[in-house]
Order: sequence, then C-alpha cells, then structure tokens
Amino acid sequence: MGAIQSRFGVGPELSERHPSAQCRRHIQMRRALLEAHPESAALSGPDHRGAYAAIALLALHWTVCWWVAQTSILVVFLTAFFFGQVVIHAAGALLHDTAHRLVFRGRRAKLAFDLLLETIMTSFSLQLTYQHEHVSLHHPYMGNYERDYEHEDNCRLLARRQFRHDHPGTEKLLVFGQLLVHLLPLGFLIADRIFLPIYQRATGRAVKDRLRRMDSTAPPPGERRLFMAVSLAALLFLFFAFGWLAVLYQVWSLSIFRGKAGVTNRGQSLSEHPGDDDINPTRSNYTWLNWLLFNTGYHNEHHTCPTVAWSRLPRLKALAPEIFNQADGQSYFERWWRNVRADFRPSRRNQQQAEPDPARCAKFTPIRPINSPPG
Ligand SMILES: [Zn+2]
Repeated sequence: MGAIQSRFGVGPELSERHPSAQCRRHIQMRRALLEAHPESAALSGPDHRGAYAAIALLALHWTVCWWVAQTSILVVFLTAFFFGQVVIHAAGALLHDTAHRLVFRGRRAKLAFDLLLETIMTSFSLQLTYQHEHVSLHHPYMGNYERDYEHEDNCRLLARRQFRHDHPGTEKLLVFGQLLVHLLPLGFLIADRIFLPIYQRATGRAVKDRLRRMDSTAPPPGERRLFMAVSLAALLFLFFAFGWLAVLYQVWSLSIFRGKAGVTNRGQSLSEHPGDDDINPTRSNYTWLNWLLFNTGYHNEHHTCPTVAWSRLPRLKALAPEIFNQADGQSYFERWWRNVRADFRPSRRNQQQAEPDPARCAKFTPIRPINSPPG
C-alpha cells in the first residue's frame, strides 16, 4: 500500500531516493545546468498567477456552457470536440503544476486552488489520482515499466499485437470502433469493457498484467469525497443555471479530453517520452499550443527542474540551449494521427515489449505476485 497522506491538500511529495536510470539522467542534467548556469537556481519556485489563469478559464468555460445550452446536441458535440477539450487540457496543465506545488506551496492555498480546478474539470477526484501517480510514480521511476504508469500494460499490448497480426482488417475496424466510443460522453469509461474482452477471447491471452504493482501515494479518503462533492455541485449548478445541454457539454468535453479522441492531450503524451532512451529520456515540444497550455510542452526542462513553474520554463530553455536540445519535430496533431493510423501503437517503448515473458501474460496469471508472502 502507498502511504496515505493524513491532511487535506498536502499533496504528493517527489522523492528521488530510488531513481530510475532516466530519472538519474535528469538529475545529472540538473547538476550540469547548475554548474554551467548557477543563476538558473533563481528560477525555482511557484507562480501564484496560475490562480488568476484558472479563474479566467472557469469564466470562459462557463460562458461557453451558457451559450451551448441554447443550441443543439450537434453544436454541443462540435464545441466540446474543437474547444471544450482544449479548455480542459489547459486546466490539466495547471493541474500538473499544482501536483508539483508550483502554484501554491501552502496546504490550504493549494487545496483551494485544486478545488477551483475541480470546478472546471468535474473529475470526481480523478485529479487527485493523477497528482499522486504523476509525482510519486512517473517522475522518479520514469522508463521503469513496473512503476511508470505511462507505459501501457504489457499483457494488453501483447494481446493487441497478436490480434493485429492475426486479423489486420478487423483490427482497423476495432480501432475505428474505439475512436467512436471514445467520442461519446463517458465513452472513455466503458471502452475497455467493450473492447478488451474481444482481444482476450480472440487471442486467449490475459489483457491485464496482474504482477505489475504501481503503488503510488494516495490522498486521504475524506479529501477524495470532498472533491467528488465539488464535482457534483458544479454539475448541479450548470443544470439549474443553464440546463441539461450545459451538463452534457461539461461531461462531453472532459470525456473527449480523457479518451483516445483527446487530440492535444494524447498528442502531448506521445510527444514527451520515447520510453527506452536513457540518454535523452524526454523531449520538448515548442509549439504555439504552449500559449494556450501553460508551457506544458517544455517537458525536458520540467523533468530536469521540477521545481520551476510553467511561466519560467522558457527562460530556463533560453539560459541553457546546449542542455535543452531535445525538440520534438512533430506537432501534437501529427503525433495523434500517426498513432491512430498505427492502430494505437504504444506511446512508450520498453524492454518488456522487446523480450516479453509469455508466462506473465498467460490467460490464467496468478493474482498474487510470486515473491509475496502467502496471505
Ligand atoms: Zn511533472
């Protein structure tokens, strides 16, 4: 079990005590940076202006909610796809900063800010899961399949790969079907329940790696309930103030953002880490979208200096272009589209994909890890 934080708003703590090879590489880059440019240390610290940005985002988002509530379901869908998912992505970029305590350091201020984001996103506390997994698993264990949750479940990948090999035409249909389901409100919650059994039945393989243990830190249960209550309150407000189409727009925007049709979100994820490169583990994307997404593309800079807020990342890059020289040449749109064309090829490469353990993904994998004591 991960450690349970006892106080609301404490948030996750980045520990680099047992770093993966790729995390060590970023620590090494940080040392080189501080040696060559000692003035870069002054760029560390939070930026409270993220709070004003979140208030502006909420005002913009609710204005659009009010407007679409007077239109039709088709307009609601088109607005959610072309606009709503980007607004949620912008809030998600601020969520990333607050996960690292880069908007407010203090517990109460951070909690208030996170609740403001919850009002925009209505994630029903999923934002807390993200904060803890991102900081306690992704950063310190980057590139380590067993703990870096950004790597696709290897059993699921192997089943998909075998199905694609055996039935290439049907796989295209399934990819199309998955995109359609992910375009539905809450489709991202049901897609796996529909499609994974198809891969499982057709290949006779397990689609979940039950030996993988990615224990992250976790928020206290009461904090989770508070965030759920705020989400519910935001949806009730939208319903009573603007009507059910406003609620649909809210849910649809979040659903598209979180799913396989989340063009900018998935494009960003695909752009960030190759997965198996221990020398250059992280790429940056210096696209114009950084203007809308709070410099979230400056990812190499962020992993090297996770204490620098979004607003100062471009200065970090300008200070040490010889260190931050891993620019991704493809846009988020290109990354997303190529991934769809390649039947959702995994976004991260790793050793397990190259040398899979067939027993680990056999259909009847033991649920208890082999090395755990008998229960
Ligand atoms: Zn981060």
